[in-house]
Amino acid sequence: MEEKKRLLLLTTGGTIASVPGADGLEPKRSEVMEREVNQLRSYYNITVRDVLCLDSSNITPEQWLLIAESIFTLRSGYDGIVVSHGTDTMAYTASAVTFLLPDIDVPVVFTGSQLPLADVLSDGPDNLRTAFAMAASGKPGVFLAFDRKVMLGCRSVKLRATGFNAFESVNARYAATVTGLGLRVDESVLPRRRGEAKLYTRISSDVFLLKLTPGLSPKIFDALVDMGYRGIVMEAFGLGGMNILHQGLDGIRKAVNAGISVVVTTQCLYDSANLGVYQVGSRLLELGVIQGRDMTTEAAMTKLMWAIGQNMAPEEIRAVFARSLAGEIAEE
Ligand code: ASP
Repeated sequence: MEEKKRLLLLTTGGTIASVPGADGLEPKRSEVMEREVNQLRSYYNITVRDVLCLDSSNITPEQWLLIAESIFTLRSGYDGIVVSHGTDTMAYTASAVTFLLPDIDVPVVFTGSQLPLADVLSDGPDNLRTAFAMAASGKPGVFLAFDRKVMLGCRSVKLRATGFNAFESVNARYAATVTGLGLRVDESVLPRRRGEAKLYTRISSDVFLLKLTPGLSPKIFDALVDMGYRGIVMEAFGLGGMNILHQGLDGIRKAVNAGISVVVTTQCLYDSANLGVYQVGSRLLELGVIQGRDMTTEAAMTKLMWAIGQNMAPEEIRAVFARSLAGEIAEE
């Protein structure tokens, strides 16, 4: 008989591990989580470690570092790792961990649930099973498993507050799906490893996400410069346009001249920003902004936080955004 795969479950809290408390659902390292894992022990050799016990709304960049470090230091001796996590900020954590752990050499699969495992109708058992199957697949990378689909962590976005198909893989095919044939992996989606696994231990919180709205005051850029931000991800309109009348460009010019990296993505969930198409986009390019192309907001934010955390100069940041590190951006 084939030996069982050795898998590590790192728990961080979230609905999946929550039980009703005085003020609503609170994460607990509950017996229910243990019970579910025990059932899976007939398929896999599972070790459980608690890293955090938080609603993911309370997870900060410092905790992304802790999760990445736990994965990196504990991974030897395991065939794969599952990280249970609240769904609300899971796409951010999965994206950040992707950049903090380049060339990771084991599958790392984030998952959670919309209904706690303690609820008889929970989607948690299914999600855990998909996550463990991917963790046992031998395909390295950082993934997110939900509703029988597995996607790259850096392409995942939470779309639904209650629906079980809560996550979508944006601008990228699924890395794997569960069908009547079992777990079907799409090899073409898997990230390419280019070297030894590595852990980055720094990330910057000095990045602001700015969503353009018609008539937005250009003074916002002065305020962001004054507040000491070192990076801005700007969700522009459609293909990447902004209101170039009304001094909007002056604000961006000042920010770029102050050494702030401005990455422009689109408010549209699907397809790519392309600043070369409209005059309102070309003007932005002339100012020296960086194209975020088809990246998700979560990936653009965490990639910029990671790049600034490594103290990269603006030109290095531009170069790093021009290429895909782990499948987060379409190769040109
Ligand atoms: N508020 C919860 C969390 O993100 C939601 C969930 O896990 O589904 O921790």
